[in-house]
Amino acid sequence: MEKSKSEAKDSSRRSFLKKVTAASVAAIHPTLLKEARSASPALNNNQAQSNPRATRAQPNKTLIAIQVGAVSFADEGVERALDILQEKGRVNALMLAVFTYGRGIAGRQLPGQPLPDHGAQKYDADTFHGGSYAELHPQYYDKTIFKNLRAPDLANFDLLAAVIPKAKERRMQSYCWLEDVYNPRLIPGFEKVAEVDVYGRRTGQACLNNPDVRNFLNSLVEDYVKSYEVDGVMWGSERQGPLNNVIGSRHGGFNGRAEITCFCEHCREKGKERGVAVERAREGFIELDKFVLAAWKNQRPSDGYFVTFWRLLLNYPEILAWEKLWTDSQQEIYGEIYGTVKGINNKIQVGWHIWHNNSFSPFFRAEQDYSKLRQTSDFLKVVIYNNCGGPRLAQYIRNVHSTIFRDAKPEEALQLHYRIMGYGDEPNLDKLPTSGLSADYVSRETKRAIEGVRGETAIYPGIDIDIPTGNNEKKTEPSDVKAAVKAAFNAGAAGVILSRKYSEMKLANLAAAGEAIKEMGIK
Ligand SMILES: [Zn+2]
Repeated sequence: MEKSKSEAKDSSRRSFLKKVTAASVAAIHPTLLKEARSASPALNNNQAQSNPRATRAQPNKTLIAIQVGAVSFADEGVERALDILQEKGRVNALMLAVFTYGRGIAGRQLPGQPLPDHGAQKYDADTFHGGSYAELHPQYYDKTIFKNLRAPDLANFDLLAAVIPKAKERRMQSYCWLEDVYNPRLIPGFEKVAEVDVYGRRTGQACLNNPDVRNFLNSLVEDYVKSYEVDGVMWGSERQGPLNNVIGSRHGGFNGRAEITCFCEHCREKGKERGVAVERAREGFIELDKFVLAAWKNQRPSDGYFVTFWRLLLNYPEILAWEKLWTDSQQEIYGEIYGTVKGINNKIQVGWHIWHNNSFSPFFRAEQDYSKLRQTSDFLKVVIYNNCGGPRLAQYIRNVHSTIFRDAKPEEALQLHYRIMGYGDEPNLDKLPTSGLSADYVSRETKRAIEGVRGETAIYPGIDIDIPTGNNEKKTEPSDVKAAVKAAFNAGAAGVILSRKYSEMKLANLAAAGEAIKEMGIK
């Protein structure tokens, strides 16, 4: 099919951007990138995305990946774990959780949740630490204060050194999977890079404009990519800007007041460079914080909650400017990592884990512009977890309803979200936490992502298997996994990523993914 003029123009602008990003960071010859791009599986997959069967016809082109942490290999043995992943899940790629301080993708099952039918039959609440589960090489860390964030919890076990050669023997790909999650209590000097909130307090989150944080991330991926034979890199940052945070536009943790960040010296400087009145932005967020606190006391403004919220945005457009600054800063890191990795080895696939909030919040979704994200990615792992999606969407609705949608009934707020987010027939609020979202949701979000990237970046839906939910909330069944995997491929996905971590998955649910793949004839 011939490209339209605007598409062609856009495409050349995009390759220009990719070249600039890589060239500025890694000083490589720009044509390398273009060649890498045309040779990338992402592009080959995309040619076939309108016809999923064509994708499957190409051997080793359909990615069947699983997220897996170091502890699973340490507990079960590398060969044994790989046997299970291949035999049960038909897995051909590993998303190795090599850097995080979070228990979402590393460590064993969360305490309080039932242990799965494999792995060490005990919890690691007392021993979990986090950090890098591969050895770090000091020569790469001269531009950052974080010199050696090696995870001590598994002694000298090196996830990448132990697994990659054995995976290669089986023609399985190995990706480094890194997360924007730090533990400030365990990292010396963390306060120097911490975000500063609107009231001047340091928080437990790293500022994405702090040079030490950016340099650390670039050092880390450079170290991994140069020290180990990795096939890809995926970074995830499950965070958003201060506007979304303050109004509770998120699932999970909004019990207390949200962190309204960042007003550190680096962010203030960046704001000034953009021509944003920093003090006006601060005032606006303080007013917005007051609005939320008043709402929680049922002090309804005479013009109602939504109108008053909107008026604050009119009076303080700096609020939106600061939100945009935060998001742009996060997405600049995508460009930096992309450039760093591609400058070292242009064949390595680079992509991003896109947070589940993208499925719930129209405000966060507006910031996840697929047509922009494709400029710095070979693939996107779009989180489309339909099982835990039910309880999580219900949490999101309760959070955002407690602020700007307080004048509607929670059910009305949910129905509005279903319509404006493009969902079909999904459960009412009273059933949502127990029934989860449907496989139709998986299909719709997969298609939307493929259209958004205009077929130029591979879309790998994240499929949830046994992600912990609350008591009496939706639990994963084999039929759910089968339906979700089939929905993703029928919608044209170039692969799937089984999530969040093998150490919490029941084998019957993992096997259901393998059965779906077999039944669809995917090679
Ligand atoms: Zn900052």
